[in-house]
Amino acid sequence: MSQVKQDLLNRRAKAVAKGVSTGTVVAVKAEGAIITDVDGKEYIDFAGGIGVVNVGHNNPRVVEAIKKQADNILHTCFHVAMYEEYIALCEKLIEIAPGDFEKRAALFNSGAEAVENAIKIARHATGKQGVMVFENAFHGRTLLTMSLTSKIKPYKLGFGPYAPEIYRIPPAYCYRCPLGREYPTCDIGCADLLSKSFIGRAAAENLACVIAEPVMGEGGFIAPPKEYFPKIQNICRENDILFIADEVQSGFGRTGRMLAMEHWGVVPDLTVMAKSMGGGMPISAVAGRADIMDAPHVGGLGGTYGGNPVCASAALAAIAALEEDNLIQKGAELGDKLVNRFKELQERHAIIGEVRGKGPMLALELVLDPKTKEPAPAKAKELVSYCLDKGLILLSCGNFGNVIRTLMPLVITEEQLEKALSIMDEGLASISQ
Ligand SMILES: *Cc1c(COP(=O)(O)O)cnc(C)c1O
Repeated sequence: MSQVKQDLLNRRAKAVAKGVSTGTVVAVKAEGAIITDVDGKEYIDFAGGIGVVNVGHNNPRVVEAIKKQADNILHTCFHVAMYEEYIALCEKLIEIAPGDFEKRAALFNSGAEAVENAIKIARHATGKQGVMVFENAFHGRTLLTMSLTSKIKPYKLGFGPYAPEIYRIPPAYCYRCPLGREYPTCDIGCADLLSKSFIGRAAAENLACVIAEPVMGEGGFIAPPKEYFPKIQNICRENDILFIADEVQSGFGRTGRMLAMEHWGVVPDLTVMAKSMGGGMPISAVAGRADIMDAPHVGGLGGTYGGNPVCASAALAAIAALEEDNLIQKGAELGDKLVNRFKELQERHAIIGEVRGKGPMLALELVLDPKTKEPAPAKAKELVSYCLDKGLILLSCGNFGNVIRTLMPLVITEEQLEKALSIMDEGLASISQ
């Protein structure tokens, strides 16, 4: 390690709070699927800024839009003086959000802030308070969203008391079925856990909404069977409960579709979007049914920076890149290829218990023994560190920390992908010894 890098790590330790976790890469440049470290070492990025740069680091369309916007307006606050970029982005988002009914959108800054607002809107529209979430869910780190999030360490420990009126049921996690059944003979009994919860956990009369990630992100890239969300949504409809999709991680091309819920053919009442929507800039949104979105009174929603002009312009450019540069199609093809390659790896490395996900949002769940399925978090850590050393940035996830996930930019080249896969192959062999 160079002296320059060592100095930066020392300054970080003295100035930045310990609770803000960091790896050891010190980035000075990023382009496409590559991050360059202060020491000149290049890394292939399978983290994509945690699912933020589906269109690639410093996508030229996004950079151009930011520069152009910076010359005109940096900030007025939409509540003080409107600007076209906010309106144009909302128009685009209500076109993207599923459903052939009238829709509205509102813009915020982070995924957590958008989730909070979706819950506020659902409560206002229904006059009910309860929120049903899932075990393994991740919805953010603010007080309300941390309370919705499932995993205690590191997200919740010591940060209570949590927000009230939050109830939790197990998800459709087939590899570790909460009912001990097997798909498809299971009859999707896990979806009935929702209606069963109305008896002992939360009366349907008190539930404003169910919020679900189509493919769970931090919780382990869990993608339910095709019958699951339609069944959940039916139960919601029968009980006047809104269904909210948290597409913060799964949206904007991540699963080979613009929005992941398209895989299930379900039309949520509200959709929460962030991460790759902004192409690297902090912006988020809630979009959905006009009658619900318009329920809160004037002044009830918003914030100083929500839908900032520079961020809104970047988001419009990122969406244009996805649509006009065929990145969604490219992502779908990448997903088909990756899933086959990962299944090949699974045949050779018994430590891979399951390969799962949708499109290029894929995960390898590592286990010590494929029969007992005992989670292998230490091995996942070893793999991440082996790969980092060889120039590949990987992220783990899952409630046990034993799942390796892929969030690479969709613009990754053939050559970069092959190199990354061979590093993973070597790494898997190394940790299996
Ligand atoms: C990352 C994430 C969030 C929180 O987004 P922030 O921008 O970090 O606040 C919410 N939901 C899901 C599904 C996420 O992956």
